[in-house]
Amino acid sequence: MTEPDFTLSAGPTMAPPRVLAAQAAPITYHYDPAFLEAFRRTERKVAELFRTKQDILLMQGEAILGLEAAARSLVRPGMPVLNLVSGVFGKGMGYWLAAFDAELHELEVPYNDSIDPADVDRFLDEHPEIELVTVVHSETPSGTLNPVGEIGPIAKRHGALTLVDCVSSLGGIPIWPDEWQLDVCVAGPQKCLAGPPGMSLMSVSDAAWEKIRANPSAPRASFLSMLDWKEQWLEAGKFPFTPSVVDLHGVEAACDVILDEGLEASFERHERAAAACRAGARAMELELWPASDGIAAACVTALAVPDGFTDVQVRDHCRERYGVMISAGQGAGNLVRIGHMGPTARSLYPVIGLAAVGRTLADLGAPVKIGDGLEATLAALSHDDRVSAPTS
Ligand SMILES: *Cc1c(COP(=O)(O)O)cnc(C)c1O
Repeated sequence: MTEPDFTLSAGPTMAPPRVLAAQAAPITYHYDPAFLEAFRRTERKVAELFRTKQDILLMQGEAILGLEAAARSLVRPGMPVLNLVSGVFGKGMGYWLAAFDAELHELEVPYNDSIDPADVDRFLDEHPEIELVTVVHSETPSGTLNPVGEIGPIAKRHGALTLVDCVSSLGGIPIWPDEWQLDVCVAGPQKCLAGPPGMSLMSVSDAAWEKIRANPSAPRASFLSMLDWKEQWLEAGKFPFTPSVVDLHGVEAACDVILDEGLEASFERHERAAAACRAGARAMELELWPASDGIAAACVTALAVPDGFTDVQVRDHCRERYGVMISAGQGAGNLVRIGHMGPTARSLYPVIGLAAVGRTLADLGAPVKIGDGLEATLAALSHDDRVSAPTS
């Protein structure tokens, strides 16, 4: 098959030219002074994106590695942990926690809904023994957002640490480890940052390091060891192993693109693209997957697939007939997702995504009001004179 014309997936997403160019830089020895400088610079840029004074850990593997490393490092057998589940990634964290022999407690809501902080507060009141709360910020498969800004301080007040999956948030949706009192946050470069997949961008609080150091089960001499990175690289300037030289340059360029644009401008752009897409989907008479707009994530619009059709069928038809790559439901339900990440959260990309979904459903025989939908999206975008503000 030929390359797609538009990658409007839920990540990896289209990377801007600056990222692509950076990935073509010469491959250097990892102790080359220029590479060492680039690595430290990139850590500082990721810290800027998180607006944090905490340690930044750039682990060398797609964000699942960072999430697993954090869970393994924090959890010791028998530790009481509260896992908040509102979707596929929250559920997956629970499987890990159980496998690492945590004493697992879960608060679960339907996969089109979001966690109520009051429920977390009540649960922690009733279970003061909980030492760790795990939560997903942007549940990408469901297109929903959890109120991590409220959950962080609640956990802290109850003496529990937090581990946050913000893989799809960084750069596109506000996530503030310091202000929200979060202990370990794990982000990915291939979502709103529009960089290459292959690294885990993490913030780690002093309290988290203390917990990890005190945990005899925390990985050591392992690809999954956060402590190895802390002691060898952050403290002694020696890499535990050769980092991903090419991806590091791509991640730095991806940070530069967002920092040059300005974080707030980037957040607003992602929000506008998602709002325009939602307006169009409604006018097209499609059903939005999230229970309310208030919990809809800005990085992806999730649309329920009409009865009688499947998510994979819609995704594949979009790609094969129109060259537009969108995402299916990834286990969250019968839904498809149009990504608004990095470059695809600007210009008329939301129109293209919605046109592809609408026309696909019509081709398959579903009743949709394509024209009304596209008009509504275009109208929403036309109200904004920054719609094509360059990002690279
Ligand atoms: C993308 C993503 C991950 C990484 O998972 P993959 O299956 O490797 O893509 C983890 N958590 C969330 C919320 C994500 O969006």
